Amino acid sequence: MKVVLQNLTKTFPSRNKKAHADVVAVNDFTFEIPDGELIGLLGPSGCGKSTALNLICGLQAPTSGRIFFGDDDVTDLPPENRGVGLVFQNYALYPHLTVQQNILFPLQNLKGADRLSKSDMLARAHEVAALVQIDELMDRKPSELSGGQQQRVAIARALVKMPHILLLDEPLSNLDARLRLQTREELRRIQRETRITTVFVTHDQEEAMSISDMLVVMRSGVVEQIGKPQDVYDSPVNLFVAKFLGTPPINVFTGRVAGGTLYIGDDAVLDVGGVPDQAVYVGIRPEGFVLDGAGPLRCTLSRVEVMGRDVSVISTHDASANPTIRSIIDAESAVDFTAAAVRFALKPNKMFLFNRETETRILFAADDTAQGDANG
Ligand code: ATP
Repeated sequence: MKVVLQNLTKTFPSRNKKAHADVVAVNDFTFEIPDGELIGLLGPSGCGKSTALNLICGLQAPTSGRIFFGDDDVTDLPPENRGVGLVFQNYALYPHLTVQQNILFPLQNLKGADRLSKSDMLARAHEVAALVQIDELMDRKPSELSGGQQQRVAIARALVKMPHILLLDEPLSNLDARLRLQTREELRRIQRETRITTVFVTHDQEEAMSISDMLVVMRSGVVEQIGKPQDVYDSPVNLFVAKFLGTPPINVFTGRVAGGTLYIGDDAVLDVGGVPDQAVYVGIRPEGFVLDGAGPLRCTLSRVEVMGRDVSVISTHDASANPTIRSIIDAESAVDFTAAAVRFALKPNKMFLFNRETETRILFAADDTAQGDANG
């Protein structure tokens, strides 16, 4: 079922009327979540992700705007009538109930025509338990399960009522790194199998990139960019989005465009004919550097980290906005570890220009040629 948010806004009144303006946690959201897709709601702490989720499920009422599930306006419906399944960071299982009883719980609360027979309830509980692969654990109590298993029970409990929409608020945050990766792949499999429209809230860009059909990047209650993860990574609309996506993060330099040439410090690094003279920020993805003795960007070499498949070259440059520049080079490339300086050629399709004041992206002609060279 598709979800449509129409000019959705949520304002919280300030407790201190004199000192602070009201908090606009969600500011004029208008977008559609296509049927059967998983969207990742991504942004730093406090940007309004959880509030957006709470509005969609009905735990909070919007200050203005409407929410549609399919063609139905659900803005004024209570959560229990919206057909949503919710999973939170803290699994919120009932400790005194077994796994099976936890999963059955939402079904036992159904009333009237929706109520299932006991055998149907059990069949449904076992079906979802098998889907999340905990059907062997039905008689255990939550305290007898690992964190990953507990989260699977929480997911099963959210799925058992066959919700139209699944809402996941940082569901993997309490898991250790390995389990987090595994559970994230499981979640993706379950979502693909069930085709339930899903909203996944996270502040972890890598997690959001890997799991989402579509990313919604937020900052301070405002949607900054919506798109397929790779498209947002390859074509960020502003410096904030460019910096938020990617590990290692994008390298940022102060630069200037003069007479159709882009300068980083005194290094003339790229022909950007057509771009008016101005001060800019230059973002270069770590994979956008190529070791080249005749390359235009000259950096001071700090150290080299060998990471198996790749080599990470750490260097500095006076115009770098960060203390160090991190570039990822193919391990086959010969790096002289002892050199004082290192020169790079730059891949134009891994470089972005941003206006120094507004921080919005400035397109340059090399972007076109760069598309054909996306894997270069
Ligand atoms: P996190 O990743 O830290 O959970 P978030 O992106 O989910 O953050 P929200 O919890 O949605 O952010 O909060 C968005 C903003 O709204 C924050 O500035 C927060 O302080 C404020 N806020 C949230 N709930 C309330 C509330 N009940 N009363 C007042 N302000 C609130």
